[in-house]
Amino acid sequence: MSTFTVLNPATGEAIREVALADTAATDRAIERAARAFESWRDVAPADRARLLRRFATAVDADLEHLAQLEVANSGHTIGNARGEAGNVRDVLTYYSAAPERHLGQQIPVAGGVNITFHEPLGVVGVIVPWNFPMPIAGWGFAPALAAGNTVVLKPAELTPMTAIRLGELALEAGIPEGVFTVIPGKGSVVGDRFVTHPAVRKVVFTGSTGVGKRIMAGCSEQVKRVTLELGGKSANIVFADADLEKAAASAPGGVFDNAGQDCCARSRILVQRSAYDRFLSLLEPAVKNVRVGDPADEATDMGPLISAGQRETVSSFVYDVGGGLSAEVAFQGTAPQDGGFWFPPTVLTPTDPGARSLREEIFGPVVAVVPFEDEADALRIANDSVFGLSGSIWTTDVGRALRVSRGVQAGNLSVNSHASVRYSTPFGGYKQSGLGRELGPDALDSFTEVKNVFIATE
Ligand code: NAP
Ligand code: MG
Repeated sequence: MSTFTVLNPATGEAIREVALADTAATDRAIERAARAFESWRDVAPADRARLLRRFATAVDADLEHLAQLEVANSGHTIGNARGEAGNVRDVLTYYSAAPERHLGQQIPVAGGVNITFHEPLGVVGVIVPWNFPMPIAGWGFAPALAAGNTVVLKPAELTPMTAIRLGELALEAGIPEGVFTVIPGKGSVVGDRFVTHPAVRKVVFTGSTGVGKRIMAGCSEQVKRVTLELGGKSANIVFADADLEKAAASAPGGVFDNAGQDCCARSRILVQRSAYDRFLSLLEPAVKNVRVGDPADEATDMGPLISAGQRETVSSFVYDVGGGLSAEVAFQGTAPQDGGFWFPPTVLTPTDPGARSLREEIFGPVVAVVPFEDEADALRIANDSVFGLSGSIWTTDVGRALRVSRGVQAGNLSVNSHASVRYSTPFGGYKQSGLGRELGPDALDSFTEVKNVFIATE
């Protein structure tokens, strides 16, 4: 069995060797999950609910430990990491109410009684990226388990530590063996087996749009269910009538949180031309005040990028081939120089609408600011993207806030705020940002089939 050396991205130092599953080990785990399904699906709803609450309680009791693991493995700030572990607890608690409330229907028909059932699918394969290892795992496994499925979960190779711990906590909480199995390994091996193994009835994938398309194509072979959460190029639209101080002060958080490694990052800021200069002059100090450094320090706003490779990708948007700063760079904040995979918060002002910085997901602390003329122009620019995940609208005109919210082709919008993810509300993308919705009341439906039964009474 091969191993992977997990690095601390803030220091570049090795922290642990993790064994990588091969195809045979993956198959064994999937087959165990298929056997476990036979009994998990029949666990009484109240008992399944109780087990999920015990899992949530175990996560809560281990919250600080999970958070410290994430700081070390992913370079997330300690405040964020605590919030992420708390999110797993909350998502488990939210869906623990589901087994007893996943109601079917009784539909009026002639000659009998017609009822519907939501039945679990079987084994669900969850493929998790490295940017939010805990929340994204929980958004997949919690509703899947609540609906009566068993789960095999592949963390990203770079960030397996918290997923491994969550697997241990599930067992400690009394979730039966085989119901929730974490399988560290390569995407091309473990992840691909989720797509091809016939016992896996659904794949939940979060990651790059390129890999997501291949997974969707692969799943078509068995008409396997799929939920995709892919990339984004979300717009933060600032109208001249907005509270510009607040819009500028919050804009760095809307894109540089988690060092910009966030599918919801508002990586394009669209500013109405009459407010453009003033907005940039307010944005500059806000960006320069972002404290980049040791993620374990409570005062830090932003940690390192996940890897040397990611830093290289992000650099290609900011530096010319010769190594000098690109002409698009307006200003930058600061970052440590040594040890880890650091990158300073960077603001670009591209003038070519076809610029890479306006089209591609950068997944780093880099934002592009562009002017627009009026509402129609703002919508035209915001929607000029293959992506459609999230976005923000800053205005004090409530009618405009609603018109523009309805006009932006994206799944998650916030007005005078950048908060677009809550465990109790649906999350997902338009266009090439994804397929299906996670979280909220509807997610359960994507982990079940509806069965219709007619009983003759005559
Ligand atoms: P990625 O390749 O899409 O990886 C995401 C997950 O898919 C990982 O667990 C990965 O495993 C797995 N995977 C890779 N190839 C697979 C395959 N052929 N079959 C099944 N699973 C597979 O993403 P990345 O390479 O880490 O990041 C590249 C870019 O994707 C980023 O720069 C960013 O733009 C975007 N991204 C977006 C999100 C998001 O939340 N929307 C998240 C992460 C990345 P391994 O760990 O073994 O590769
Ligand atoms: Mg990849």
